[in-house]
Amino acid sequence: MIPFNKPYAPEHISMSVAKKILKAPLGDETQHHLTVDTLRVNHGILSDRQVVFTQSATQALEIMALCMDLNAHDEIIMPSFTYAATANAFARTGARIVFADIDPYTLNISLETVAPLITKHTRAIIPIHYGGISADLDGLIKLIKGSEIRLLEDAAHGIGANYKGKALGTIGSMGCLSFHHTKNITAGGSGGALIYDSFWHEQVQACLYQGTNRSAFLDGKVPVYHWEQLGGEFLMTYYHQLFLEKALPDLDWVTNRRLKISNDFFNFLTSDYNFDEHITFQKTVEGANGNGHIFPIILRDEALKRDLMTYLKANGIHAFTHYEPLHMSRAGRKYGDTRVSLESTERIASRLLRLPLYATLTDSEVEKILEHLKLFLKGRC
Ligand SMILES: *Cc1c(COP(=O)(O)O)cnc(C)c1O
Repeated sequence: MIPFNKPYAPEHISMSVAKKILKAPLGDETQHHLTVDTLRVNHGILSDRQVVFTQSATQALEIMALCMDLNAHDEIIMPSFTYAATANAFARTGARIVFADIDPYTLNISLETVAPLITKHTRAIIPIHYGGISADLDGLIKLIKGSEIRLLEDAAHGIGANYKGKALGTIGSMGCLSFHHTKNITAGGSGGALIYDSFWHEQVQACLYQGTNRSAFLDGKVPVYHWEQLGGEFLMTYYHQLFLEKALPDLDWVTNRRLKISNDFFNFLTSDYNFDEHITFQKTVEGANGNGHIFPIILRDEALKRDLMTYLKANGIHAFTHYEPLHMSRAGRKYGDTRVSLESTERIASRLLRLPLYATLTDSEVEKILEHLKLFLKGRC
């Protein structure tokens, strides 16, 4: 059986982590610094950006929402074609979620789909960089230039990917990465990172210390500390920081392997066999360099997608659909506004299938997947 995903855990991790954990200086920040440095080097985070590791990308999004100090009059624009985590973090503040359509080629929100939704209440725009392929960030930045609207990146898919040489998650005002076990690199089950520019430093520190100014107290700037705003308990555990530090140096290898497999899929489906009328692919905007996080294929219609998924499963290959558009969900209708047609989102969500893709997928497993795709498609197309 070829599963849809296998979490990446380098074999050398278990021993070194096990040894260190026995004498872990819990509460000490040394490990956090080490892991931040490793992320900086491997993901390419410039020194003008701060990094904090959280227990999940969801928590990093929650910190962003707290820092923005949102209320019920505020509006946050995001794709409907995303995971509920993107919306939850902001909806729980009382702010309205405003759903933008995706561009049918890039599968991301764009200048054209976001522009009609901007009002005087808009506080932030949140692209998600679907499959690790960047949204057209220059377009979105152009749209908010000169306004107070923030660009916040949900780069949960984006570890190892960049836009015009800048690491995803480091381009907006704040951004997050995910190290959940379904993502390209995991911190050992779950984990996330919040990346932000220094404008937010005090706010982020307050959120990390339960909304108090304990950070200023620790720096000797105030004699006592107080509860000043909402915050929480967000820091990634020592164990996960250690695991992540050991896994991150394999990022290049993981990314290259995933890109190689994606290329094999793509070349097979476009050159060896021409299924043009039946299958289309996610397109890359200029300057976006992906990380092979997802290989989505968009089938001609919903029935073909369903049949292919069933056929692959019967042959031991797990392929999956993806997001149910949030605007069509119960909570999406309650917490979100659908002000324009989200036609591309609905059409694509119903026809998209993700092939198995992970770094340790072997060449013979890739062959098997391609062989079965060929058998199915030749019979149907
Ligand atoms: C995985 C994912 C998240 C949540 O990441 P966690 O680390 O599991 O909290 C958020 N947004 C998107 C687009 C994701 O795919």
